[in-house]
Amino acid sequence: MTITESQYNVNEKGYYGQFGGAFIPEMLYPNVEELRVSYLSIIDEPSFQEEFNGLLKDYVGRPTPLFLAKRLSEKYNTTVYLKREDLCHTGAHKVNNTIGQILVAKRLGKKKIVAETGAGQHGVATATVCALMGLECIVYMGEIDIQRQAPNVARMKMLGAEVCAAISGSKTLKDATNEAMRHWINNPVDTHYIIGSVVGPHPYPDMVAKFQSIISEEIKWQLLEKTGKETPDYVIACVGGGSNAAGAFYHFLDDAETRLIAAEAGGHGINSGFSAATTFLGKMGVLHGSKSLLMQTPDGQVVEPHSISAGLDYPGIGPMHAHLWDTKRAEFYAITDEEALESAMELSKLEGIIPALESSHALAVLKYLNAKPNETVVINLSGRGDKDLDTYMKHVL
Ligand SMILES: *Cc1c(COP(=O)(O)O)cnc(C)c1O
Repeated sequence: MTITESQYNVNEKGYYGQFGGAFIPEMLYPNVEELRVSYLSIIDEPSFQEEFNGLLKDYVGRPTPLFLAKRLSEKYNTTVYLKREDLCHTGAHKVNNTIGQILVAKRLGKKKIVAETGAGQHGVATATVCALMGLECIVYMGEIDIQRQAPNVARMKMLGAEVCAAISGSKTLKDATNEAMRHWINNPVDTHYIIGSVVGPHPYPDMVAKFQSIISEEIKWQLLEKTGKETPDYVIACVGGGSNAAGAFYHFLDDAETRLIAAEAGGHGINSGFSAATTFLGKMGVLHGSKSLLMQTPDGQVVEPHSISAGLDYPGIGPMHAHLWDTKRAEFYAITDEEALESAMELSKLEGIIPALESSHALAVLKYLNAKPNETVVINLSGRGDKDLDTYMKHVL
């Protein structure tokens, strides 16, 4: 992991432009402060880097390939490379972050891990690294999500995690987050809280972005090897909270000739009332400990988002992406459920790769780009589609 300075990275106060910060209950302050003062020196240590890079290589299977998708390129009359995060152990990019965080937790002397999960993908990635390191793992999950996501609940249990039902409120992700925070407040000394995206109070967004930055670090040298030039014309990634996009953008933030493109979940359409397109629908607000764009009612209640893909079904966006949107450094597209399903079918048929529904949102941007034949487009394929087979069977098969 190489760390660079950029005007788009977090500043010393924990902000990206006007977004970010740490808006947390006073009881949580000691935990977050311990992490804030120590995370940079921990991840800079040679022994940390050695252990992190070693696990990425031998456990996750990195570097993931950068694949020239010839038939997809032909169809869109441009040059498309897929960054194959779908080939990571556990099937998506999330494990890059959970490995980084569990190594930080160990160095802080923590014995237990707590996490929240919505669809269960982050819960599985967390339970996986806890098994690997022999740490106790408690995952909070809304009672409704536990019923909806039985296979991921089974995976977590098999990996030795305790899955706790959040039974308050709407019994979904936001309630699970509240319960996990409460647990952390009550167990500050021996427990680390692993957040799954570039969201939450500072320093989480920056720490998670740095762990995921391995994605663009690899893209650079892989592109140089394949094309003789390390910067592409476009990098496209889907954005739920924004961790796979942060990783894919990170080392290109200051390369003005590379256009950064984010695909949000448009759901049934931006104006349908069933959407998760935060940059189109959101206003400044505070969610999960940071100031960012947030889908909310005029009096500030969080609006229930909708997306066909569980990983993009989130009413906010990480503060780094809010800043990239605000400064126009990144361009945002809202991709509908239907467009994502079409793109999933298309990639499967053209390249023999069944993508996750989240990643299919990034693929769907291709038809809007009008990229030229000699231009290079890198699409971050954040995950594989096995987990979405039920949805594919219901809608397109
Ligand atoms: C969780 C998930 C996402 C969304 O999370 P980000 O933090 O926005 O990357 C995207 N793709 C896959 C495959 C996921 O599992």
